[in-house]
Amino acid sequence: MNSLDPQISLDLRTTTADLTAPVISRSDVLVVGGGPAGVAAAVTAARSGASVTLLERYSSLGGLASGGMVLVLDDMINGQEITVTGIVSEYVERLQKLGLAIVPPADDRKTSEELWNKWGRYGTFDFHSHTTPKPVCYAAAFDPDGWKRVSNDLVREAGVNLRLHSWFSRPIVDNGVMKGVICETKSGPQAFMADIVIDTTGDIDVASRAGASYVKDSYLTTLVFRLGNVDTNAAEAFEQANPKEARAINRKIKRLLGGAWELWWLKTPSTASSGATPRT
Ligand SMILES: Cc1cc2nc3c(=O)[nH]c(=O)nc-3n(C[C@H](O)[C@H](O)[C@H](O)COP(=O)(O)OP(=O)(O)OC[C@H]3O[C@@H](n4cnc5c(N)ncnc54)[C@H](O)[C@@H]3O)c2cc1C
Repeated sequence: MNSLDPQISLDLRTTTADLTAPVISRSDVLVVGGGPAGVAAAVTAARSGASVTLLERYSSLGGLASGGMVLVLDDMINGQEITVTGIVSEYVERLQKLGLAIVPPADDRKTSEELWNKWGRYGTFDFHSHTTPKPVCYAAAFDPDGWKRVSNDLVREAGVNLRLHSWFSRPIVDNGVMKGVICETKSGPQAFMADIVIDTTGDIDVASRAGASYVKDSYLTTLVFRLGNVDTNAAEAFEQANPKEARAINRKIKRLLGGAWELWWLKTPSTASSGATPRT
């Protein structure tokens, strides 16, 4: 019989004895989830002198920023003030040095047809503006795999104890106090103990399993795919020379794809072009 048969799986229940797992580490701080929030928390704690373990279920760091191919750190400025700083500025700087991020220089952060033509397809513009064209602003178009690389560098340099392929499965709570977590790994369940546990799973896996109350909601997600060997210069030249035809084609494609994004494809700093398929 097929074990995935819904009739069977619905009725199946099994009870196991209390779990015994080896303790792999004891740290001041344990961070669960290696996305942007987890890396920032782990690196900041380690730089402050704490011993830190960072757990990530997948084979690489970056969470949605790398695995979900975010492509652009959009609009990080309010007027002249750069408002999104800290660890993310280090990412931007390092990615730029590697040639894996592009940021409009201060002189280009204005509204003009010429600057729109130069920067628009990198997505580095003020999304909320109602002007046409939209103003170019401080934002970073980046390569998702570059994000993984910089995350590794930041974590390694800060001396964080990184454990990949470690899927949080249950909290260790004693008398209402969080003492650590259990992860599922290829070697079986493993325990990681800490004075402070930070949940950066993006889904509050740890907090919710530990009994914390939460509000359930949903948000639009954008499914991104990448295409290589696309002549994006030719596509842009066509758009700029034939704005009416290009708008008609874009409208047709947007109808097919759906979603909220005005631009359905973006350029990235590496040679590949990227198609963004927005869905709500
Ligand atoms: C296409 C796209 C474009 C976006 N554009 C922008 C943008 O321009 N600007 C912006 O600010 N935001 C943007 N976002 C949103 C941004 O990506 C998220 O806000 C950000 O990634 C959240 O970071 P996080 O670390 O909290 O969570 P996540 O990125 O979700 O990272 C969570 C990490 O925890 C790990 N994890 C989860 N569960 C477990 C578990 N049980 N055990 C172990 N590890 C676990 C995951 O594998 C992941 O690595 C975009 C998102 C998408 C998809």
